[in-house]
Amino acid sequence: MTVLSGEYETVRREARKFAEKEVAPIAHDLYNEGAEIPMEIIKKMANLGYFAMAIPEQYEGLGMDTLTITLVTEELSRVWLSVGSVMTRMLIAGGLILNGGTEEQKERWLPGIASGDVLPAAAFTEPNAGSDTAGMQLRAVRQGDKYILNGPKTWITFANRANLMTVLARTDPDASKRHKGLSMIAVEKKPGNDFMPPHLTGAPIPTIGYYGMKSFSLNFEDFEVPAENLIGGVEGRGFYQLMGVYETARIQTAARAVGVAQGAFEAALQYAQERQQFGRPIAEFQVIQHKLAHMATDIEAGRQLTYYAAQKKDSGQRSDLEAGMAKLFCADMVEKVTSEALQIFGGYGYAMEYPAHRFWRDGRIFKIFEGTSEIQAEVVAKRLMPEKK
Ligand SMILES: Cc1cc2nc3c(=O)[nH]c(=O)nc-3n(C[C@H](O)[C@H](O)[C@H](O)COP(=O)(O)OP(=O)(O)OC[C@H]3O[C@@H](n4cnc5c(N)ncnc54)[C@H](O)[C@@H]3O)c2cc1C
Repeated sequence: MTVLSGEYETVRREARKFAEKEVAPIAHDLYNEGAEIPMEIIKKMANLGYFAMAIPEQYEGLGMDTLTITLVTEELSRVWLSVGSVMTRMLIAGGLILNGGTEEQKERWLPGIASGDVLPAAAFTEPNAGSDTAGMQLRAVRQGDKYILNGPKTWITFANRANLMTVLARTDPDASKRHKGLSMIAVEKKPGNDFMPPHLTGAPIPTIGYYGMKSFSLNFEDFEVPAENLIGGVEGRGFYQLMGVYETARIQTAARAVGVAQGAFEAALQYAQERQQFGRPIAEFQVIQHKLAHMATDIEAGRQLTYYAAQKKDSGQRSDLEAGMAKLFCADMVEKVTSEALQIFGGYGYAMEYPAHRFWRDGRIFKIFEGTSEIQAEVVAKRLMPEKK
């Protein structure tokens, strides 16, 4: 059981203060309008250093540990998942460049990511390849000092607002080189909903939730990128570079799930004390009390798994097993907790006016993105088996 030191509690308190003051008052109405997070909120997050946390001081970041990132993520997601999710993009792009980029690439992009001037999106999934990362087909062909990109990507969240996309592209079409034929290319682009026709076009994908962050289907057509934007400067490393950032991304995603579940739980707890039936608050019925007890226990179990994975990572040890377990468990947990929260609201849980529906809709995404639960279970199971020699 992780008991947080005072320093961590201070970080949590500050993040909660920001979320309550700046995000909570607008989250519900914007959600019901299907609106994106206001850019002002993103700017305020940047000013608070939330995008700089994982970037070392050497590159104008704050050099904070994974547990700190976990706490901030949890607090932001407790109020609005999409706000906690903005940070995911900085972690992925920042991690790809920090772990796999050349020194020149680090100096070029990391300070901008830390300050919020560079807003990244992660462009990996394709219409015909989702879980099968090694099956990506978007083609990047080297021509002199450029790469020419052709092909579709889909579900690319934040692609409209991003000015940098880390695109997983096939540089070697040899079918026998699935994993080894992929490279990560940093694509600089103009932000905006119109993209850059005719070379980059895109359209938002209508969804059942997660409205604050829109996801897009994209198409690259003879899109030119300077060859110097190949992350790491050597072709064929893209798949491995991506796997290298998944530990942090999964821990942060588990933290997002804990935050959403906590938000749903608190809303249900409050409602249960206010809603009167049979002449007393429904919170006095044992069935409701037990529901709340199970919800709180499940959330705490998810939180502890997540903190443990973060601490293991921060200690420098391999933590893919723990990160996978945290993501797997929290995805189930948040689905269950948000559904129970909606149930406690009764008919009002189904109404747009009350907050329960937001948590429930957002809670469903966790079994799908950042690796589906089926794939997550594969990751965990592989680590439980004896390693093949
Ligand atoms: C709201 C949202 C935001 C997203 N944001 C991004 C983003 O910013 N960038 C990005 O690149 N992607 C993003 N994604 C894409 C997401 O990562 C993929 O949807 C996910 O990886 C699953 O891929 P798929 O949708 O193609 O499903 P598929 O891979 O086709 O899977 C379909 C079903 O088959 C199961 N399955 C597949 N393979 C196996 C297997 N080997 N064993 C057992 N079961 C299997 C899956 O678990 C799933 O249940 C986002 C998705 C959503 C919905």
